[in-house]
Amino acid sequence: MNEDWDVVVVGGGGAGLAAAVAAAERGASVLLFESEKELGGSTQLSAGMFTAAGTSVQGALGVEDSAERFFQHYMDLNQWQLAPGLIAEFCAQSGPALEWLIGLGVEIPAKVSGNAHTPGLCQAGVEDVWRGHVPKDQGYGVVQVLVRAARARGVEIVLNTRVERLLSGDGRVTGVVADGVEVRAGAVVVASGGFARDPELLARHYPAALRAGEDLFVVAADGSRGDHLRFGEQVGAGVTGEGWGLLLPTAYFQRLHHWQSGFPPKSRVYVNSHGRRFMDEDASYAVSSGIIDAQGGTVWAIFDERARRTLPSGYAHWDAEHVLAEAEAGRTLRAGSLEELAGKAGVPAPALTATVRRWNEQLPHGHDPEFLRHRTLANKGSAGNPDPIGEPPFYAARLLPAELVCTHAGLEIDARAAVRDERGAVIPGLFAAGEAGAGVLGGRYVGGGNAVANAITMGRVAGLNAAGN
Ligand SMILES: Cc1cc2nc3c(=O)[nH]c(=O)nc-3n(C[C@H](O)[C@H](O)[C@H](O)COP(=O)(O)OP(=O)(O)OC[C@H]3O[C@@H](n4cnc5c(N)ncnc54)[C@H](O)[C@@H]3O)c2cc1C
Repeated sequence: MNEDWDVVVVGGGGAGLAAAVAAAERGASVLLFESEKELGGSTQLSAGMFTAAGTSVQGALGVEDSAERFFQHYMDLNQWQLAPGLIAEFCAQSGPALEWLIGLGVEIPAKVSGNAHTPGLCQAGVEDVWRGHVPKDQGYGVVQVLVRAARARGVEIVLNTRVERLLSGDGRVTGVVADGVEVRAGAVVVASGGFARDPELLARHYPAALRAGEDLFVVAADGSRGDHLRFGEQVGAGVTGEGWGLLLPTAYFQRLHHWQSGFPPKSRVYVNSHGRRFMDEDASYAVSSGIIDAQGGTVWAIFDERARRTLPSGYAHWDAEHVLAEAEAGRTLRAGSLEELAGKAGVPAPALTATVRRWNEQLPHGHDPEFLRHRTLANKGSAGNPDPIGEPPFYAARLLPAELVCTHAGLEIDARAAVRDERGAVIPGLFAAGEAGAGVLGGRYVGGGNAVANAITMGRVAGLNAAGN
């Protein structure tokens, strides 16, 4: 192996592959290390949904959008707690990055999609205009296209090799050490993903995830061990994005991403410890965990026997038999009346019965004046209104944010994806992107597809700038 490279990329997920392809397109010699047996990381496990503004897909569907509009929405949603220069560049580059992916072979049909599994354009988040681009074959498809492009452009890929540390000298990063071998490079791109699988780093940088206690389960890829933070410590890199990440709400009995775990019944109501409804049960994953957390006490999903019985089969957890087994074991509460269920859940019975009565008068007739859930159901392409909640026995399953998808704390980057040190100065020769490069993913997940957009867009930016370093 040649030991001198223009660019060394650490990690072969979305950000690393995008960086490698972009750098190679600029004529750089590129070596990419991947710690696992196969490429793809969390990107490969994802739906591949990509939030981007001003794209050809939006244009074909008559959706008017621009980078400026995206920027305003992004900053407002994050209460302007992110660096505007970086976010402006991210918003400006998201559309071109998506078009670049399409040019490489990723297929995103110009049609309306009701969910993250159907290729097209969807509203999965809290977008002001529809920006959620769902590619054919999801994250797996994106990774396959990038791997093909990398190989076609001469990127050398080394699997099963975890980069141990960075090399530095004369005030710059000069390469990496992997398998005990020193590899020198003009620039290094750290794209090693997040730290969802390292409990110590979670305690330090994203303690909110640990509030789920034994119910916490991690769906991020095995390689999400937080090596970027260890590399950063070595060279005095700044760290930003502290305390932020994406936790999805789940029933306590879920242990897998919803594609395998399944989906709760449409006929359900979420209540807080006052027995009151407090949210659109289908509110975007971008905001629903925050709404649940804000209730302070236990939150319950309430449904009836018909809803349990008619759960579609083929899923591991939201399945009629599984829910029954949970009820038999006493972990999911079950009662012959709503009053009795309220007693078991410790919520006021008059409030719970009134909540369900009101819900039955509204949602089964296609209207939810308070929480506007009918709008969300329509955007999801839901066929038919939910059934009333009325057939005993009734069930209550504890609901909480416990599915850890990704983490946002990482090496502080600027608009060129260059890593900054603790004083804010750029560290020559060091770039970072994806979950490893922090500053784009904030306290509020923006739109459907914020993290994949960050990985590919900033990965591409990092690769282009590393090649020109
Ligand atoms: C189930 C699931 C569904 C999701 N769905 C979506 C979605 O639809 N849209 C969206 O926007 N986001 C989604 N996300 C989040 C999103 O996929 C990730 O945030 C994003 O893909 C991360 O990309 P990345 O390149 O930073 O990291 P990764 O894709 O995880 O890649 C990092 C790679 O670096 C490797 N690595 C780690 N350490 C080293 C080392 N020391 N040396 C060499 N290699 C190393 C890892 O093994 C890994 O392959 C989802 C996540 C999951 C888990």
